[in-house]
Amino acid sequence: MKKFSPGILYGKELLALYEDAKKNEYALPAVNVSGTNTINAALEAAAAVNSPIIIQFSFEGAGFITGGRGLLNDFTANVRGAVSGALHVHNVVAYYGIPVVLHTDHANDQLLPWVLQLIAEGEKFYAEKKFPLFSSHMTDLSAKSPDENLEISGAIFKQLVKLEMGIEIELGVTGGIEGNIDNSRVASETLYTLPGDVALAYSKMNKIGRLFTIAAAFGNVHGIYAPGHVELKPVILNNCQQYIRETYHTEEKPAFFVFHGGSGSSLQQSREAIQYGCIKMNIDTDLQWAFWEGVKNYYNEFEPFLQSQLGNPGGSALPNKKYYEVKSWMRPGEKNYVKHLEEIYSNLNCINRNG
Ligand SMILES: [Zn+2]
Repeated sequence: MKKFSPGILYGKELLALYEDAKKNEYALPAVNVSGTNTINAALEAAAAVNSPIIIQFSFEGAGFITGGRGLLNDFTANVRGAVSGALHVHNVVAYYGIPVVLHTDHANDQLLPWVLQLIAEGEKFYAEKKFPLFSSHMTDLSAKSPDENLEISGAIFKQLVKLEMGIEIELGVTGGIEGNIDNSRVASETLYTLPGDVALAYSKMNKIGRLFTIAAAFGNVHGIYAPGHVELKPVILNNCQQYIRETYHTEEKPAFFVFHGGSGSSLQQSREAIQYGCIKMNIDTDLQWAFWEGVKNYYNEFEPFLQSQLGNPGGSALPNKKYYEVKSWMRPGEKNYVKHLEEIYSNLNCINRNG
């Protein structure tokens, strides 16, 4: 008997997954995909470890699905791409037999129309199918005041609740570079969320629904940098949980936290964040490298067969098609992605969670 249904999780079952993760101290990897290769590799890894997965589309990733780099920043392309990627998951998920959370990544002020258009698409989908197209969306209004952030995010959350969907909000600044937002030079003290802000967010969002997660900043940074760039302090998450509990007399660890910029984190830091209620860890940079590394290793292994259509060490007239066709060199990228994602699952204490 599987714990969660295969297919797209939403509503009560998604909340049950988050509760299960918090109680049993594991986090779900949330991977940023940019096409069917990375989507399928993510599903393959999840099936291999028998655990749910969070598949998410960034604004840029969604645009890439529609038409590659040429259409980047065309809004229609970013809406169609996210819908197309989501529909691909709906279409193939039964083949992999695992539960999937479909999500969209950072949407700052400028990108809110993208999320609103996706909600409009989701409303049409829900009216027809009686289940949502996506499991959740993210707003990232951390550049605004907490009050303004929560007012706008709360209004969007109200729309999502009607579709049995969740929301992820961001409080405080995640360092580094994410899409077109460069936070690589902000003062380091702003990289830590204040417990009072988290408690305010908890109380406001909790009045609307239970299915919300909070990306809190605790020194986490998007991308990979040399060690010593900024100090990660997962204990901030624990302080936030205690602050909420004391202020609103809730149960232990009331909030669901999200760890952004998870690539390159040590096992100990990840486990500490998980212990304090982090149930989702965004992994992007490390998996981008894993896909590329698989292709690079393939190239190194078959280099003499990849220089021209005809001619290799076996003879000057021999065809090389089986080495250079797209499926041949992309599959090693997928395989290395799967292998690396399986290691991430292990670090997140997330093996066999759908047993
Ligand atoms: Zn992020």
